[in-house]
Amino acid sequence: MGTVLDGKAIAERIKHDLKRELASLTQKPRLTILSFLTPASELYLKAQELQAESLGIETNGSDCMPLDITQAEVERVIQRLNADPAVHGIFVHQPMPPQIDPQRVSASIDPRKDIEGIHPQNSARRFFAKARIGSCTALAVMELIESTGVGLAGKEAVVVGHSEIVGRPVSMLLLDKLATTTVCHVATKQLEHHVNRADVLVVAVGQPHLIKGAWIKPGAIVIDVGINVVNGRVVGDVEFEPAKQRAAYISPVPGGVGPVTVMMVMKNTVEAFKLQQGANG
Ligand code: NAP
Repeated sequence: MGTVLDGKAIAERIKHDLKRELASLTQKPRLTILSFLTPASELYLKAQELQAESLGIETNGSDCMPLDITQAEVERVIQRLNADPAVHGIFVHQPMPPQIDPQRVSASIDPRKDIEGIHPQNSARRFFAKARIGSCTALAVMELIESTGVGLAGKEAVVVGHSEIVGRPVSMLLLDKLATTTVCHVATKQLEHHVNRADVLVVAVGQPHLIKGAWIKPGAIVIDVGINVVNGRVVGDVEFEPAKQRAAYISPVPGGVGPVTVMMVMKNTVEAFKLQQGANG
């Protein structure tokens, strides 16, 4: 029976380290969160502001935009924040209203202020792993894998899902650690065969229980990024209970990648701040 990776505990450890680092800074990073006006987004915005403030990150100027806002208006707001030297990080909530193109929004953020790591320069660049700011979800996946203490060099890693903001950046980070990395996607034949030879499996698709427990290689590390709601319950992309019987380590949903991703946004904010201050070389 595999060890269940505790995302909340890992997030707390990162928070502790970040608090110490922030306490040593004379000036504090300032983050602006943009969301689209729905009751859920207002709650999420408040929770994120409280999280940032509890660390010592200022959140002045966070804003809920009307649901009928145009693409040009969103990009104008972002341009204004890009040009404001008092704003060090910009975070835009997803999902966006249907008239808004998320890829154009990502590309309009100054890459040095892109604390989610969604700008193409941060999420998909060739030497992504060397970049200071990266996809917050991909960085969270690596934190969970590293928490196991298992070395990645020479391991067979399989990533299911090839999105710009999760699957691709995770695969670059795994390659950087010298894992032999295969990326599976919607056209992959014999998904089961690839999953079954993975020492490290990362699944980021968004389809409940796509990966069957019986496919997992005994002793594997399984990181489930997927978030799906089934009959009012949040579940991942992996059949958790049967997969746990075979894996050495497995991340649950909820309580796995999610809490660590939230903390990696804060870590990226500190990195963005240092980058803009020139304090990090
Ligand atoms: P996305 O942009 O929709 O990408 C999903 C990927 O899965 C695509 O590359 C897609 O390929 C691929 N795919 C679809 N069906 C497949 C299949 N049957 N077999 C293999 N690959 C398949 O989603 P995302 O943003 O990467 O997010 C993925 C999941 O992670 C979602 O459930 C999302 O909610 C969750 N998520 C969680 C966190 C967190 O912090 N926990 C953060 C971000 C995302 P094609 O594009 O070729 O169709």
